[in-house]
Amino acid sequence: MQKFDVVVVGGSVSGSAVALRCASAGLSVAVVEEHPLPGKYGRCTAIVSKKGLNSIGGEYSSSALNKIRGADIDAAGARLSIRTGKVQAIVLDRFKFDQACARRAGNAGARFLFNTRFESFVADGSGFVATCKKTKNKATQKIRCKVLVGADGANSSVAAAACFPAFRERDYAFCYEAEYGCANVQKADAVQVFLDSEKLPGFFGWAVPCSSSVVRVGLGTTSRHRLLYSKAAFFSRPEIRALLWPAAKVRREFYAMIPLRPRKRTQIGNVLLVGDAAGQAKASTGGGIVFASRCAKIAADEAVAFVRRGKPIRYEQRWRKAYCGKLGLHRRIRSVLDALGNRGLSFLLLAGKFLGLGAVLERFGDMDEILSV
Ligand SMILES: Cc1cc2nc3c(=O)[nH]c(=O)nc-3n(C[C@H](O)[C@H](O)[C@H](O)COP(=O)(O)OP(=O)(O)OC[C@H]3O[C@@H](n4cnc5c(N)ncnc54)[C@H](O)[C@@H]3O)c2cc1C
Repeated sequence: MQKFDVVVVGGSVSGSAVALRCASAGLSVAVVEEHPLPGKYGRCTAIVSKKGLNSIGGEYSSSALNKIRGADIDAAGARLSIRTGKVQAIVLDRFKFDQACARRAGNAGARFLFNTRFESFVADGSGFVATCKKTKNKATQKIRCKVLVGADGANSSVAAAACFPAFRERDYAFCYEAEYGCANVQKADAVQVFLDSEKLPGFFGWAVPCSSSVVRVGLGTTSRHRLLYSKAAFFSRPEIRALLWPAAKVRREFYAMIPLRPRKRTQIGNVLLVGDAAGQAKASTGGGIVFASRCAKIAADEAVAFVRRGKPIRYEQRWRKAYCGKLGLHRRIRSVLDALGNRGLSFLLLAGKFLGLGAVLERFGDMDEILSV
């Protein structure tokens, strides 16, 4: 049986971040990934604030597709345009980004076990024995470790195996996104955001340009059974039809879920959940890359302190102290937007326009910290 200090399940952004930090500190680390390559296979809009990307470290220029300087926010016909001279966000090639994160972790010494699916685990002495299955020949592989990290996304198998409290259905945004080529992108440096509490209850729609001819168009709602209706209504909007007219072609499309609220628990003993498995995404936008990476660092530091010095793991307290307030602010913004209704939303945008909200956001707005003064 193979033995490691830390087994990380999931080789995407948060799993690679945990693995990188643990391996850099000299721990033996295995990353169990069910796919043949690391990451989310591009199932993400992958727009990330420039500040956030810089804060999590690592080189991202090889996966950067586009620079975003502003946004057009639309609510029931009212529109607020925010333009800044500065680059606010980067649109990434998520596939390349995830591979670069995994490469860094691999270079630091983490061992990636691809085509390997985590199934279950048992406590064994002072650690765990994880049971994994090779996806190709279904061979069983047992791996012993001292710390088990679930970085395996919104449908975490680690969370299920360790009986962590489940997300409730209303805690998810159910999303659809398609990337189009040959699109009629008018402003390649601005995203379009569509708020519509009747057709997109609980979330919103978006159009994020990757270049002057490629755009990611998506929508989400917290009402699972309305997703197809919301999708049809959203794609019949004149702005979206104009964007895709006359020759846009779907390059890839997917349905996925984003947990909009942290799980009630994210640590049971030495089993830790990070990223989407823990529900560490922003409820306002669904962005999870920055907070997942930050929380992953805390998880890794706690794992290192445990393995090296036997210090009890205090991941749950530490990440909640550092980020729960910030994630809570994003949830409050989401609740206010949900409560306003379409008339309230359009009034908010009109009032915002009149009061110069665009200028305030230009000056102090931050996609992750809300206001950075
Ligand atoms: C439509 C949509 C748009 C988004 N847009 C943005 C955005 O613009 N900006 C942003 O910051 N965030 C965005 N997000 C959120 C972002 O994608 C996630 O927050 C982020 O990917 C979380 O990373 P993670 O490593 O925690 O999990 P994931 O990226 O979901 O990775 C989980 C990994 O675990 C692996 N895995 C799962 N189960 C097992 C198993 N049993 N055994 C082995 N491996 C397993 C998977 O193959 C995968 O590699 C978006 C999400 C969606 C759905």
